[in-house]
Amino acid sequence: METKKQLTDKQQKQLRQLPGIDTIIERLQKRNGTGNIPPAVLAKAARDTVSNLRADIKENEDGVPEQWLAPENLENIALQKAQDAMRPNLKPLVNGTGVVIHTNLGRSPLCRQAIDHLTAVASGYSNLEFDLSAGKRGIRYACVEELICEFTGAQAAMAVNNNAGAVLLGVETFARGREVIVSRGELVEIGGSFRIPDVIKKSGAILKEVGTTNRTHLKDYENAISPDTGMLLKVHTSNYGMVGFTAEVGLKELAELGKRHNIPVMNDLGSGTLVDLSRYGLVREPTVMDAVSTGADLVTFSGDKLLGGPQAGILVGKKEIISSVRSNPLTRALRIDKLTLAALEMTLRAYREPEKLADTVPTLRMLAMPAGEVRIKAEMLAKELESMGDRRLEANVLPLVSKPGGGAMPFVEIPSSGVAVTVEGFSPNRLEQALRKADPPVIGRIEDDRFVIDLRTVAESELSVIKSAFCMLLAKHKI
Ligand SMILES: *Cc1c(COP(=O)(O)O)cnc(C)c1O
Repeated sequence: METKKQLTDKQQKQLRQLPGIDTIIERLQKRNGTGNIPPAVLAKAARDTVSNLRADIKENEDGVPEQWLAPENLENIALQKAQDAMRPNLKPLVNGTGVVIHTNLGRSPLCRQAIDHLTAVASGYSNLEFDLSAGKRGIRYACVEELICEFTGAQAAMAVNNNAGAVLLGVETFARGREVIVSRGELVEIGGSFRIPDVIKKSGAILKEVGTTNRTHLKDYENAISPDTGMLLKVHTSNYGMVGFTAEVGLKELAELGKRHNIPVMNDLGSGTLVDLSRYGLVREPTVMDAVSTGADLVTFSGDKLLGGPQAGILVGKKEIISSVRSNPLTRALRIDKLTLAALEMTLRAYREPEKLADTVPTLRMLAMPAGEVRIKAEMLAKELESMGDRRLEANVLPLVSKPGGGAMPFVEIPSSGVAVTVEGFSPNRLEQALRKADPPVIGRIEDDRFVIDLRTVAESELSVIKSAFCMLLAKHKI
C-alpha cells in the first residue's frame, strides 16, 4: 500500500483556500456566457477544476503559484471546460499527415453525391427493406447489389458493417467447426485488433496453417485438405510485403484446387479496388473484378479504403455462396445501416463515370493528385501564413512523401509537397500539440525535427482553417 505523504504547511494552507464547488457555480451563473449550459455540466466542470487543482497542490511540496487559486482563474478554467463539454466530441478536422486512408482520422471522406443522398435518406423514411414494385418486404442490399455486380462481374453481392465482419461472416458460414487452410505468409494483422488467426478462431473454425512464412506451394494446400476442410482462404497481405526467396500460390491455382475438391475459396482483398490504379500513377493492385474472374467463390473488401466510400464490408461471389451467407443468422448482427447504404450506393454510382473518378471520389482524387498540384497548394498555404505578418512565424514549402495508408500498398510513396512551420517559442512538439487542440484541430506530423503539414490530404477550402488555427495560436501567446 502507498504510504500517505505528510503534506507541508503550504500545501495544507492552499487546500483550505480552495473554494467550494457551489461558490464557483454560483459565480459562473452570474456571469454571461453560461446561459445555455445546463447546471449539471457546470457543476461537473467546477468539480473537475477543483479536483485537478487539489491534485496539483498535493503533488508539489511548495504548492502551486498563488494566482492559480484566484477565484477568477478557477472560474475561467471551469467555464472553458463547460463550454468544451457543450461542443460535439466527434468533429471534423484537417488531415495534414499526408496519409490518405488514415484509419484514426476516419479513412475516406465521402463524395458529394453520397453526402447529399445520406442526408436525404436520414431525414425521413425510405424503402430500405421494402420492395416498391411488389409492395412487400424487400432485401436490404437491393440498392447496391446490382451496382456491385456491374463493377465486379460477380453473380451476387451483399454488404455488412465492415470488412472484418465480412471475413468473419464468410468463414463462419462455410467453416464453423471445420478447418480453414491459410498460408503462413498470409496470417496478417491489420491495425491493432484484426488478426486473421483470431478472426478464424472467433468464427468457430480451426486454423490450419500451411507452408512457411516466406514460401507456400500448392502441394502444401493440397496435402492439408481433408474431409474436415471447410474453406481455402487467401488473404491480401495489405500492409506488408516480402522480398527475396518467396513463393505464394496464386488465386487461380487455389481456385482450381478448391473446385477439384469442392471446397469454397475465399479471397480477403482488404482494400479492394474497382479500378486499375495504375491509371493514376499508382501500383496496380488486383481489382475485385480480377479476383472474381480468377475464380474465387467469395471475395471480401472494405467500403472505406480504396473504394472511397463509407465504412462497410462488401462480399461478392457466386449466387449460392452469397445466398448461404445471407441466411447465416450472424448477418443480422453485422447488418449494414441505412445511412451507410445510402452513401455506399452513391459512391458506387460514381464508378459509372470512371473517367471522372479522380474528381468525384475524394480518396482517389487525393491519391491521384500530381505532385505539382500539391505543391501549388503548399505555396498557397505558405503565402497565407506569411501574410499574417507575424515575425514569430516562418513557413517554408518543402517536398514530402505521402502514403496511401489504410493498409494498402505498403511500399508506395507518393511524391508530395508540404509546409514546414516554425513559431518562435514553440518546439515542434508543442506546436503539433497546440494545433491538435485547435478548433477545428489541425493534425500535422513532425519530420526532421520540424512541424510539417502535408498538403496532399488538405483541401483548398481548408487552407483558411489552418491559417486561423495559427492566427489564434499567435494571438493567445502575444508578447
Ligand atoms: C483492412 C483489412 C481488413 C479489415 O477491414 P475493415 O473494413 O477495417 O474492417 C481485413 N482484411 C484485410 C486484408 C484488410 O486490409
